[in-house]
Amino acid sequence: MKIKKVAIIGGGVTGLTAGLYLSRKGFDVHVFEKKDRIGGLVGGKVINSNIYEYGPHFFHTNNPKVLKEIKDIVGNELIDFNRTILVKFMDNYFTFPLSIFEVLKKLPKNIVIKAILSFISNNFKRIFKNKNEANSEEVLLGFYGQVFYELFFKSFIKSVWGINPEKFFPEFARQRIPKVSATTFLNKILSLVRVKFSKKSYKNFVENVDGHHYTTNRGYLGIVEKIAATFKNSGGKIHLKSEVSEITVNNNWVEKIKIKSNNCNNYKFDGFINTAAISEFIKMMKSTVPNYILDSANFLEYRALVFVGVLINKPKVLPAAFIYFRKHIFNRVYDSSYFGHDTVTPDTTILVAEISCKAGDKRWNDEKYCKDMVIKDLLKENIIDEKNILETHAYKYRYGYPIYKLGYEKHLNNIIKYIGSIGNLETAGRQGLFQYINSHIAMQMGFEAAEVLADKI
Ligand SMILES: Cc1cc2nc3c(=O)[nH]c(=O)nc-3n(C[C@H](O)[C@H](O)[C@H](O)COP(=O)(O)OP(=O)(O)OC[C@H]3O[C@@H](n4cnc5c(N)ncnc54)[C@H](O)[C@@H]3O)c2cc1C
Repeated sequence: MKIKKVAIIGGGVTGLTAGLYLSRKGFDVHVFEKKDRIGGLVGGKVINSNIYEYGPHFFHTNNPKVLKEIKDIVGNELIDFNRTILVKFMDNYFTFPLSIFEVLKKLPKNIVIKAILSFISNNFKRIFKNKNEANSEEVLLGFYGQVFYELFFKSFIKSVWGINPEKFFPEFARQRIPKVSATTFLNKILSLVRVKFSKKSYKNFVENVDGHHYTTNRGYLGIVEKIAATFKNSGGKIHLKSEVSEITVNNNWVEKIKIKSNNCNNYKFDGFINTAAISEFIKMMKSTVPNYILDSANFLEYRALVFVGVLINKPKVLPAAFIYFRKHIFNRVYDSSYFGHDTVTPDTTILVAEISCKAGDKRWNDEKYCKDMVIKDLLKENIIDEKNILETHAYKYRYGYPIYKLGYEKHLNNIIKYIGSIGNLETAGRQGLFQYINSHIAMQMGFEAAEVLADKI
């Protein structure tokens, strides 16, 4: 029987796990990755032999199949990671998830009283309101009240995603915004009342970071390198610096793809899995795609991220693995020593600050500006001392966060339906399905897309 050839667009964790599944099943699998390295978001940036991650990354899952697979592949190089988080606001550090006692102790009393009153009144209003919230602001106000909403969420969401919560799809707040323990506690009491008055069932919408946390002394890159090695051992091929630039579809079937590499050939395959940003993927098929699908692709936006990594001549710098900030150019900083990542020079650690931006704005275009601002803010916070800075680097990721603007589901559905009509094509992963997901879900998506494709071709 002729061995079927499959092309996978993207060498992130979704593409590699999809490839692993198919190569184990005997397919001839080729992963095309546009960059000169594998791993995508989890891959980290290697600079002067040190690993700077694209924001803090660790592996966790409650899915026993995925956990077993990763444990088998990575073996004893997996190390436990204990996640400690602080949030800085109103000149105080708070442990996260927030505790009611800490909030009561550290916030000014007049704010605490106002916050509790608005929390209780909004929650009681919710009991009798029988309407669905139209956007994320309404969801958060309903759960937290005006004061907690403004303190914890409003400006933070705007700075990370670039739009106000009132322009966000309501499900975003329900599913992705972690509850603070103060409000969870009161919510639990109030939900007993709510369910008596309401026919709706209240799901627990807390963002779950499930299971044990793992990394390696090479960061998440250590995990992804092992997945790639296992893929290659089972016959898979990875082509770096190979950007897929054009897709030719004929009669609901992908015929060939064009790859921007040295020899610019057209390649023929039996099946295809896309893991690149779905909006960009659609644009690669532009000659055959209906205009309304192109319009939908143009509607979907991703928030970009710029990272500033600083190598510090001290074994540990931060008081926790990562800290969220409200007032600075960056939203979050992590300290690699908490993750057990190795650095080339002993007794040094790496801080990475995360800056959200729009591709093309000043932050995206001006690396020096980002580096200067991050150093200035870290010095202002007394986190670092100038004499301990060994190296500073800026690096970026264009597709950081899918932005769940109001109305996005209609456009995403249009695209998914269109791709579903093409017989030998699947799309998967954080970028390929426009889903704000963690890496273990991306792995599951990779396996599932591969399974579906294997049956179809
Ligand atoms: C700041 C941050 C922190 C996170 N922390 C965690 C965490 O702690 N734990 C966790 O489990 N998850 C975390 N995540 C989520 C995790 O990073 C993602 O779920 C996962 O990496 C998605 O993998 P992917 O393969 O779907 O996408 P990506 O990693 O984006 O991979 C897509 C790949 O496709 C390539 N590509 C794009 N276009 C083309 C083209 N035309 N041709 C060829 N190749 C192309 C890209 O270069 C890239 O390598 C975090 C995400 C962010 C943004």
